Amino acid sequence: MKKFYRAAELSAVNVTDKYYDEAFHIEIRNMLKLDADRLLAGFRETAGLLAGKDGEELGSLMKGKSRYGGNWEDGLIGGHTLGHYITALAQAVISPALSEDEKKNVSDRLDYMLSALKECQELTKGTGEEGFIFGAAFPSKAFRDNPVLQFDNVEKGLGQPFEEAWVPWYTMHKILSGLNASFKLAGKELGLDVANSLGMWIADRALSWSEEVNKTVLSIEYGGMNDCLYELYQINEFLKKSGSSLYHPEFEKIKEAAHRFDETELFEKVLAGEKNTLNNFHANTTIPKFIGALARYETDKNEVKYLEYAESFWDMVLSKHTYVTGGNSEDEHFGEDNILDAERTNVNNETCNTYNMLKFSRRLFAVTGKKKYLDYAERTLVNAIMASQNHETGFSTYFQPMATGFQKVFNTLDGNFWCCTGTGYENFTKLQDGIYFGREDEIIIALYLASEYCTEDFSISIDADFTKSDEVKICVKPVAGKEVEKDLLLRKPTWVMGEPEIKVGEDEISPEEQDGFYIIPKNTVKNGCNIFLKLPMGITCHNLQDGADTYAFMYGPYVLSARLGLAKMKTKGHGIAVVVAAEKAVESDEVLVTKEKSVQDFIENIDKYLVKREGEMEFDLAGTDRNLNFTTHYNQYSESYGIYWKFKA
Ligand SMILES: [Zn+2]
Repeated sequence: MKKFYRAAELSAVNVTDKYYDEAFHIEIRNMLKLDADRLLAGFRETAGLLAGKDGEELGSLMKGKSRYGGNWEDGLIGGHTLGHYITALAQAVISPALSEDEKKNVSDRLDYMLSALKECQELTKGTGEEGFIFGAAFPSKAFRDNPVLQFDNVEKGLGQPFEEAWVPWYTMHKILSGLNASFKLAGKELGLDVANSLGMWIADRALSWSEEVNKTVLSIEYGGMNDCLYELYQINEFLKKSGSSLYHPEFEKIKEAAHRFDETELFEKVLAGEKNTLNNFHANTTIPKFIGALARYETDKNEVKYLEYAESFWDMVLSKHTYVTGGNSEDEHFGEDNILDAERTNVNNETCNTYNMLKFSRRLFAVTGKKKYLDYAERTLVNAIMASQNHETGFSTYFQPMATGFQKVFNTLDGNFWCCTGTGYENFTKLQDGIYFGREDEIIIALYLASEYCTEDFSISIDADFTKSDEVKICVKPVAGKEVEKDLLLRKPTWVMGEPEIKVGEDEISPEEQDGFYIIPKNTVKNGCNIFLKLPMGITCHNLQDGADTYAFMYGPYVLSARLGLAKMKTKGHGIAVVVAAEKAVESDEVLVTKEKSVQDFIENIDKYLVKREGEMEFDLAGTDRNLNFTTHYNQYSESYGIYWKFKA
């Protein structure tokens, strides 16, 4: 029988790495600065209008507050932020890294949001839209008269984002995911109650669609509606099986509704793997659909086809559409196969995409045990997710330019409620995710990030910081009176130069290597042990499929980017109230090799030309016509940068 891995519970893992810990705490401080009543204003207005309230009565229900501005929260996508916000609060409240004060504030905020949503939902009783909660703005009287008008419009194929519908099912996915998380992670029964009532509204609506209407609905971005419905179904199924009375009596309907959001035609197309399958597809619309396919397999392990769909999509994105940081897309879209160099602009690598690919990869690992998913997870966490935050303000990027010479642009606290602002709340409140996995007889160390993992039977700590040293110390301790009846599997990173050194205590060992993991057997681990790893790092060169001489550099797990100064930091508007980098700090990204006859010779001898300064993560490029200074990309948040350079000889 196939065995599956489980990620360690978020509540059991404490990240002790200083930089990650700071990233977490600044996110919490920012989130708590937001006005809960403004995030809730749209939900209260929707509920009030459905219940026939108007004028002063409606105003007092909204506590005299209005939605935040910026064209998103006060537009037809309004309310998506609250979904992310609840997920992030649920992740944060169980984190061992919170102080007592922070924990109380986060917990109070989460409870307040859930009770407010419950009150909104109560108002829908007997209205014909029972269970419906939503926060979008009402651009005209027609919307006020019919608060579900966006959903009606989508069913008619009307998707003009200011007048008809932006992406209401996308927003619904964020809301339902947040409610699921509040129960699944933080144990909030009220959250489950609201989720189930909302789930019934969704199921009744989706199950009423003709095949044609269903197809029309799926033609407009709907996030991972399948994913969140399968998740809610799984929660209910688990509760029923474990004898709890908390499950919804009609929960089977939720699975039926989830099927309505499975796009089998698209899944088959990707599985067939024809040339340019993803060309012009909106990336952040497409990725969650396949996470939903994976969720169908997670729900029912007999649905093997859905795992195949998910894995083939992941392979397609990785092999044909991914930059060195783990990010993908140009102006939110996939391009033609292997066209990456030609599409390096100021609007690559939307943060939501990497957020979704990271989540997708960890879940794919859990059901397949394939190391490649963990290798990608490390790459994208370090170089795209950590790289998406301004470490001083805590704000997040929408895009990360791959064209050389632009800078990162971040949201503001209450001015830009972009999709990526919301994924930012989620990203930095679950930094303890994906470090440890386990199953009955195995513990996996997936990521060498300084942390502590405590269970009823044992604790593990990792001491590592690859910006300072290539040495890792892992300490396994059984709880008094117990033994650790598990093998310990250590992931062999793809970036290791040569063979790592591994010691248990003082003794050097050569453990068995299986499928990319070193196995420390249970008889060694049983009574506790100290493991020492030396993972040699060096410079690696990464070109692009359509740019043989366009190179990026990594040192160990870190993508390097050249420092290009503060002189050209202009921004401009893009899309719907998005802000992007406007000016390049360099006229060209060409680098002339002067000390070797060919680019190939230069790259083969890169150790001679890209040299690390002793004790610093600073690297100087020599042997060319440009004096470039590179550093780690993840913490380049305040100046223009260049990751890719075109070499000429
Ligand atoms: Zn986004």
